[in-house]
Amino acid sequence: MQFTQIPHPAPTSPADRDAAIADPGFGKVFTDHMVVIDYDAGTGWHDATLGPLQPIPLHPASSVLHYAQEIFEGLKAYRLADGQMALFRPDANAQRFNASAERLAMPTIPEELFIDAVRQLVLKDADWFPQVDGGSLYIRPFMFADEHFLGVRPATKYKFVVILSPAGNYFKSGAPAVSVWVSEYTRAAPGGTGAAKCGGNYAASLVPTGEAFAHGHDQVVFLDAAERKWIEELGGMNLFFVFEDGRMVTPPLRGTILPGITRDSLITLAREQGLDVREEMYSLPQWRADAESGKLVETFACGTAAVVTAVGKVAGRDGEFTIGTGGPGQMTSKLREQLVSIQRGTVEDRHGWVTKLG
Ligand SMILES: *Cc1c(COP(=O)(O)O)cnc(C)c1O
Repeated sequence: MQFTQIPHPAPTSPADRDAAIADPGFGKVFTDHMVVIDYDAGTGWHDATLGPLQPIPLHPASSVLHYAQEIFEGLKAYRLADGQMALFRPDANAQRFNASAERLAMPTIPEELFIDAVRQLVLKDADWFPQVDGGSLYIRPFMFADEHFLGVRPATKYKFVVILSPAGNYFKSGAPAVSVWVSEYTRAAPGGTGAAKCGGNYAASLVPTGEAFAHGHDQVVFLDAAERKWIEELGGMNLFFVFEDGRMVTPPLRGTILPGITRDSLITLAREQGLDVREEMYSLPQWRADAESGKLVETFACGTAAVVTAVGKVAGRDGEFTIGTGGPGQMTSKLREQLVSIQRGTVEDRHGWVTKLG
């Protein structure tokens, strides 16, 4: 599909841009352009534009405002050691986007079109790449229903949009261990939308996350909705447990957790090193018992935004416990380093995960 290029009437001056990306933080700064592609049930995907970032007018009856047909992805453009920009496994993001679309009764988008939209936008706004240590361009593709109709059924019109946000290192000084709060709220029920990356899952996680903050913790841990004992994931990251005997456990994809691309990549890397990685259910009482007996030596969370983060302390209504020394453990640091080295092109990419943008 051809993208119509719409010139920007007043691009950000280089001085203002450099000031904006000197210390961008996360999710606050946006580049000058965006991609928009329209869909309607009759013609399919059409009218792809690469133009100025600007507000999208919505009719008050626009279906996304009422019934929340909305999905998104999150990936990053990295700067390789040789200066080129690259994406990490964008095909996996495109596939997951389409799986989310199917769960929310939305149209799928050809994977090549998804990746092409991302590529064109990143190349267009390449000057916005933050020159800070650990910097990246965070890419947010999303789709929402935009039909003016209040009946409850899948909409017939949608917009696919991609925007970019220059991002600094998620953690300013290295990666500290986080403290997590086990919530009594649940995130996803069997048969629900837990495996889809939809805005609604995040809306429902805000109260439990607020509760974690109020208790002085950094993140919320969700247990399964049926038995309230199996550990599922954090608000936006998957979990791994590392045992004294070298075994690693991560909760299985049972439809209630988000199939993280970081999770999948780490399973692959760990297995290649001969580690015994099991996708197995693991309960909160067991987590506590194993941490207290010393059988469990590390726990870490993983996702695109913060890559790999150690969990140092776990708290909930029944009190709290510490994992290992309470700081980042060896396996956590090692796997983080290995993944980051592939993403930054300082070690060979033997899996075809790195897509150079040329
Ligand atoms: C996006 C997300 C993750 C992490 O997925 P990655 O592909 O590794 O970034 C984990 N859990 C939830 C709920 C998410 O939305």
